[in-house]
Amino acid sequence: MKNGMNLIKTVFFSEILKGLYLTFKHLLAQRVITEQYPREKRVLPDGYRGVIVHLRYDDNTEKCVGCALCEAACPSHCITVESAEREDIPQKRYAKRYILDVTKCVFCGFCVQACPVDALASSKEYEMATTDKRDLIMDKEAMLKLGDQYFPVRAKRPKHSQDRYDFFKTMKQTEFPTVKKGAA
Ligand code: SF4
Ligand code: SF4
Repeated sequence: MKNGMNLIKTVFFSEILKGLYLTFKHLLAQRVITEQYPREKRVLPDGYRGVIVHLRYDDNTEKCVGCALCEAACPSHCITVESAEREDIPQKRYAKRYILDVTKCVFCGFCVQACPVDALASSKEYEMATTDKRDLIMDKEAMLKLGDQYFPVRAKRPKHSQDRYDFFKTMKQTEFPTVKKGAA
């Protein structure tokens, strides 16, 4: 029975007729579905994962604390983090050097999920075509600039972070009380 149906379909070119029907349906509908890029640009969905960017707090400080968890989470090994201690706050670290090699990035978003302070985000930037691959190796400053462009509304810096900064600033200006010899 099944073979018989297949034979009838073959004899009457049913697949070709189906295809022609679809072609003429779209032709007569006269719906323009070609986008005239770059003059017309597509509206991207909110979950779009474009180039990874760095974010800042509302007081302009960078969120990144240089922990390198993003580097560990990246399956393409395209992130390099070199962290250092901030001079003004003991034990507080920052990314002294942060490099993202966009040529290797697969836009999976693992780095964004791994970051404990939400310092990274996927932007909607996709126009990165270039004739020089070196343009696609981004440093922290370039990523911050893109972050400012795509995420102008910034999160408030946590109060405990400011308190810690104020505490160490005060400690620097105040001398520790000296301990007298022989005192219990
Ligand atoms: S999006 Fe994926 S591949 Fe790209 S830097 Fe982040 S973790 Fe690596
Ligand atoms: S971007 Fe986030 S995960 Fe990566 S080093 Fe900075 S704080 Fe750590």
